[in-house]
Amino acid sequence: MPRMAIIGAGPAGLSLAYFLKGHRNYETTVFESMPEPGIKPCAWGLITGIEELIPIPKETIISEIKGFRIYLDNKLVFDIRTKNRLGYIIDKPLFLKRLADEVNVEFNSKVIQKGNKFYTNNEILDFDKVIMATGHYSVDKSMSIPAIQYITDYEIDREVVEFYFYSGFLGYAWIFPDREGSKIGIGGYGEVPELKERLKQILKGRVKIFHGARVTDYGIIDDRLDGNYVGEALGAVYAITGEGIRPSIISSKILADSILNGKDFRKEFKKSKLYWTLNWHAKIIKMTREKDPGTVRLSKALLNNDPQLILKFAIGDFNRVDLIKIFGRSLI
Ligand SMILES: Cc1cc2nc3c(=O)[nH]c(=O)nc-3n(C[C@H](O)[C@H](O)[C@H](O)COP(=O)(O)OP(=O)(O)OC[C@H]3O[C@@H](n4cnc5c(N)ncnc54)[C@H](O)[C@@H]3O)c2cc1C
Repeated sequence: MPRMAIIGAGPAGLSLAYFLKGHRNYETTVFESMPEPGIKPCAWGLITGIEELIPIPKETIISEIKGFRIYLDNKLVFDIRTKNRLGYIIDKPLFLKRLADEVNVEFNSKVIQKGNKFYTNNEILDFDKVIMATGHYSVDKSMSIPAIQYITDYEIDREVVEFYFYSGFLGYAWIFPDREGSKIGIGGYGEVPELKERLKQILKGRVKIFHGARVTDYGIIDDRLDGNYVGEALGAVYAITGEGIRPSIISSKILADSILNGKDFRKEFKKSKLYWTLNWHAKIIKMTREKDPGTVRLSKALLNNDPQLILKFAIGDFNRVDLIKIFGRSLI
């Protein structure tokens, strides 16, 4: 029976092990450097729909999101409420723990590569296949941006998420509800002191924790479509929103299905809507950086359009016609 080592117990690695579980032909072990899952900073927002692929246990749901507010230069421009659930704020560490309980995980096991061999805790990994689900840690810094976050006791409407955009700044800030209080963060194209300065303007409540990490904005790293990478290590993050949990899980589903059906992952992934939409997000970021550094065109496109259409674009549920409607024919 082929034995598979999956490096990294984030959403990508754990869901890959979960999707392969119970298939007699594969035995997986996940290796995680940390003592428990979910330590990496994250705002824990998850778009609805992913529960069709993987269970989201009730106790891991902090709140159901039914509305969003958009601010431009700290002024409210949209306040949208829907009857439908748009997404969740989940307790990500607990969600990952529940997944970890279902699969075989070795914590406190940092994996190091020397040549074509992998080692953990001074022992060689004797596996038939090694898959990297190592997140942004294994992505070159030039392919990622910084994101920082305060956890405060400021209470926000539990069904609403807030996004803050700025003229002349590519990136955005957020306020998401937490179990208690909220997470107030920002990610974008600037150094951490600049991000902190912007965030100061919307920071509310008593700060309990300040932390940060990088988030990949490159789109899919084509060289890594060899079936040895998954999740953020493959570039599976929506560059405009920084959403990486759901795309990471979907990329793992595509990899698991390719493995189980003996199909070529590169071909299967390239056929997917995920690939196409992730790359469009990355392309728009790249074009904005090169041709629209003041973000004038991007802000106009995002703020002068139907919010429902923008929401579809933001969550990767768009097609070519939607792109033309939002950005104009010249873009495509
Ligand atoms: C501040 C911030 C806020 C964010 N907010 C959101 C959000 O609200 N919603 C959303 O969808 N996305 C968000 N993201 C992005 C999201 O957190 C990631 O894209 C997502 O977690 C990627 O999943 P992954 O499993 O690919 O990688 P990760 O979650 O990074 O997991 C990789 C794991 O691999 C482990 N690892 C790395 N190297 C090794 C090694 N050599 N040996 C052993 N283990 C190793 C790490 O410890 C880690 O546990 C945010 C990111 C940041 C920085």
